[in-house]
Formats: sequence, structure tokens, C-alpha cells
Amino acid sequence: MAAGAERIDFVFKVVLIGDAAVGKSQILARFARNEFTIDSKATIGVEFQTRTVVIDHKSVKAQIWDTAGQERYRAVTSAYYRGAVGAMLVYDITKRQSFDHIARWLEELRGHADKNIVIMLVGNKSDLEEQRAVPMEDAKEFAQREGLFFLETSALQATNVETAFITVLTEIFNIVS
Ligand code: GDP
Ligand code: MG
Repeated sequence: MAAGAERIDFVFKVVLIGDAAVGKSQILARFARNEFTIDSKATIGVEFQTRTVVIDHKSVKAQIWDTAGQERYRAVTSAYYRGAVGAMLVYDITKRQSFDHIARWLEELRGHADKNIVIMLVGNKSDLEEQRAVPMEDAKEFAQREGLFFLETSALQATNVETAFITVLTEIFNIVS
């Protein structure tokens, strides 16, 4: 192998969905680059970032797609979902509305994505406990009913972000390998 060349065994496309401002882009920045920006601007243009992890001695490249601010208009296109094998369905634990919209996001996801897609429900901003508007029990029940994984994360404090992605990637890995 040439110096610097990277052997990739699998490439998994994972999409981030959920209302604007729930922290999707910061979750991605945390996972892909271990960064967080307090003053993050709304995402412009479709983009994805990658990070390669090792699962069971295989090198797995996660290609993680972030919405282009289209979530404001609920106009995420089918191209966005095409080929996705994993999804992070994100709400903000301090914004009840962002959780109430999850059912619609899930419906849209299921309408566009592969039926075996692995889905993680993510309640972000767990560092803002004093502003909590969504009890963890409500989300757990919803996830259980819909057959989703569930975790609360803080992109700010780097809590559970790694675990959320690794859980989804490992589950996908177990399905395809
Ligand atoms: P997106 O529209 O879903 O991509 O949301 P962003 O990633 O742009 O984040 C929206 C706002 O929430 C920004 O001001 C972020 O700094 C903030 N934010 C994102 N994640 C967290 C978090 O875990 N905790 C807190 N306290 N703020 C966060
Ligand atoms: Mg964004």
C-alpha cells in the first residue's frame, strides 16, 4: 500500500435530520473534527463530512450528511436520503416543538430511505438541564414504540456524541457484514 493510502472496508452514509437549530451541525462538527462553535451559522449548501473508525478490525468510513438549512422549509430532497443506511433524528431537549416534529421527520425518513435504515433518536443540548422541556421518559417511550435507538447528547460538552455514532455504525456494520 502506498504511504498515506487508507484501506477502507465499508462506507456508510448517515443523514442528520430534525428541526433547524437543534444542533445537527454541531453534533457533526463534534464527531468529525471534535470541534464546537458557540456562534454557529445556519448551514448553507448540502455538505457531508467523513470520519473513519475501526469496527471489528475493519475500517469503516462514515459519510455524514448535514441538511443545507432546508429543514426550515421542510424541503429536504430525496437525494439527501438516497443510499443512507443510518439516520440521526435530532431534537433539542429545551424545545418541545422540536420533539413534537420528530414523528413527521420519521415519516419523511421512512418514506424516502431504505427500509433497513438504522435510526437513532437524539435529544441534544443535555447540558441545558435547567431548561429541559422534554422529559427523557417521553423520548424513551417514543423510541421504543418506533424501534429506534435513543440517547441524549451534548455537542457542547461532547457527551454521548461519539457513543451515538458508534452505536449506529456498529449496528449497520452488523447488518451488512
Ligand atoms: P442545526 O440548525 O440543527 O444545524 O443547529 P446548529 O448546530 O447550528 O446549532 C444551533 C445552536 O445551538 C447554535 O447556537 C449552537 O451553538 C447551539 N448548540 C448546538 N449544540 C448544542 C449543545 O449541545 N448544547 C448547547 N447548549 N448548545 C448547543
Ligand atoms: Mg445546521
